Amino acid sequence: MDTEKLIQDVVKSVMQKLSVGIIQGSQTPGNTSEPVKVDGKLKVAQTVASDKKIVCSISVKHVHLCREHLDVLYGKDYEPTILKELYQPGNYAYKETVTVVGPKLNAIQNVRILGPLRSKSQVELAKTDCIILGIDAPVRPSGKLEGTTSCVLIGPKGAVYLSEGVIRANRHLHLSQEDADYFGIKDNDEVDVRVTGPKGLTFNNVQVRVSKDFVSEMHIDTDDGNAADVVNGTLVEIVNASCIAPIGPSTIADSNRIPPNIPDNSISGEITDPNILRNMNSVMAQAGGVLTTSNTISSSNNIGSARTTKTVITVADLDSYKVSGIKLSTNVILSPLAKDEALARGIKIFS
Ligand SMILES: [Zn+2]
Repeated sequence: MDTEKLIQDVVKSVMQKLSVGIIQGSQTPGNTSEPVKVDGKLKVAQTVASDKKIVCSISVKHVHLCREHLDVLYGKDYEPTILKELYQPGNYAYKETVTVVGPKLNAIQNVRILGPLRSKSQVELAKTDCIILGIDAPVRPSGKLEGTTSCVLIGPKGAVYLSEGVIRANRHLHLSQEDADYFGIKDNDEVDVRVTGPKGLTFNNVQVRVSKDFVSEMHIDTDDGNAADVVNGTLVEIVNASCIAPIGPSTIADSNRIPPNIPDNSISGEITDPNILRNMNSVMAQAGGVLTTSNTISSSNNIGSARTTKTVITVADLDSYKVSGIKLSTNVILSPLAKDEALARGIKIFS
């Protein structure tokens, strides 16, 4: 054993003793002398052994679909192709993707579909994705979808209006029964999880999910992951957040424990693809407004058969407005990107 390792071990053991003292209520600045309680229950982390680390992986934005919605998006009885097995047994990324559209008509294309199919469709995004789409999705555990946000999903064969189901997945920790027993924690407990390294931080409110079918793995979204410099396979540790200890360097699992990533080819921005606009049509029609191709939007109201045609101006159309400028009216929709670009090019916008 070299000297540095010896010192590290001594420091570690002192810090552990110190943290036990803190938990048991010795005077510590900024800490209450009472053990930390959550909902009246003693916080589980008190019993946590900190010498066992858990792999963390990043849940890139993705969707889970029900059979009915896959039928609409990809065609009746379509069988998706498995592209990659995920770390949790029986879970996989499909080759197929969808486009997610928000109310600003911004779209995120090529959003991965994960399998297997579920009883309800669910879209999982990070805050940054929500900002792009212009939606405000709540932080929820998977499957708790009541009152969550809506969006439109578009596939090669059709489009679906999802009245609810868009969430930002809560931070959660899948634990094998064996590891749950080891840590002394149980299903639905909440723990704190610390990430080491230069961007190290402690994630609070991490929901524990225990199943004999799980392998131990923490799931966080891309925003949380980026904030802490986490990559798939970064090792994290369950801690009591009331402990104060130095943050060490980041570590990574052995190659056989590095979870595969969700293949992500998504691109985001204004919709210019006429096929996407055409598919939007069928959904928008139900809601009263109709998008069609060739950059024209028609809308039919419910009163009689009155039909108006609206013009959508995207960046690609700006050349035609160089001289005339863009006259805004109720029949003209100027995309946000086109507006910025028009102003940058000195194209007049007037009403
Ligand atoms: Zn998960």
